[in-house]
Amino acid sequence: MINKIYNKISGIYKLPLCLQIEPTTLCNLNCIWCVYSKVNKNTKKISFEQFKKVIDQFPFLFILKFAGIGEFFTNKDFIKMISYLKEKKVFYSCFTTNFTILTNSDIIDLVNSNINTIFVSIDGATKETYEKIRKGANFETLINNIKKFQNHPKKSKPKLVIRTVISNQNKHELFKIIDLAKELKIKKIHFQKLYENDKLSLNKEEYLQYKKKLLQYSDIKLKFSEINKKSINKCLRALTVMYISAEGYVLPCSLLTQREDYFELLKKEGFGNVFEDSIKEIWNDQKYKDFRKNIVNGKIPKICIRCPYYS
Ligand code: SF4
Repeated sequence: MINKIYNKISGIYKLPLCLQIEPTTLCNLNCIWCVYSKVNKNTKKISFEQFKKVIDQFPFLFILKFAGIGEFFTNKDFIKMISYLKEKKVFYSCFTTNFTILTNSDIIDLVNSNINTIFVSIDGATKETYEKIRKGANFETLINNIKKFQNHPKKSKPKLVIRTVISNQNKHELFKIIDLAKELKIKKIHFQKLYENDKLSLNKEEYLQYKKKLLQYSDIKLKFSEINKKSINKCLRALTVMYISAEGYVLPCSLLTQREDYFELLKKEGFGNVFEDSIKEIWNDQKYKDFRKNIVNGKIPKICIRCPYYS
């Protein structure tokens, strides 16, 4: 099945179907589990002109996801990038934000944009817990921004989804986050388990217990991100996605941003740089083709060796 899809895609389109692009590595917060605030001294961002140059190479994009590290609204060109999507053929677009530094005009531009989903990071239902986890954020500002967005009279606007990282710091407030979502007229929460952090993560049993209780409690839609290992040749991301960092470097997917050696990986293991070569040249370069061939044949490429989803 995956072979057939791959052959069709590579035979006809010669470009990735999905693009993940990192608008900036800069963040306004210092969350308790973030590894980048310590290593990311040299912040980078993509300008609107660079973004346009990349996007204009696609006649059609199935998915455009603003992804990577950083809070994207710290890049002054971010809203311009979003607005530009109205002129492009993009089937689905989304991004994650802490929603704390938007201006009123950003909110209006967002309401009028073609973005499909905005994931808002909310890890606590009270000021105390939220600000303890999201260091540097202000709970009232977050709630006010969400209310301004939700109360805007435009009917068809992007959908807000809450994204909550479950840890031992907020497990006591997970039910309250569901209540908060309803109060804010948000219809879906995406819960994610915090991984690779011995001090803050829940163990598997405790996490599963919470999951069960949350599902019983909630009358709104909940999604839980979990890691169930599959064989590598099931990785559709590797065959369809291209991830572009704020410096233009190319990786197979945004999952690699979670590695502590992300910045080294970009230069050492990446497939090139979109500010030097075209997307088509990079995607069809032998190194990238061999990577996809290995995936289809079930051989784990070096760059994916630590991927938690595939074995
Ligand atoms: S890192 Fe994981 S999800 Fe990403 S392309 Fe490699 S195997 Fe697929």
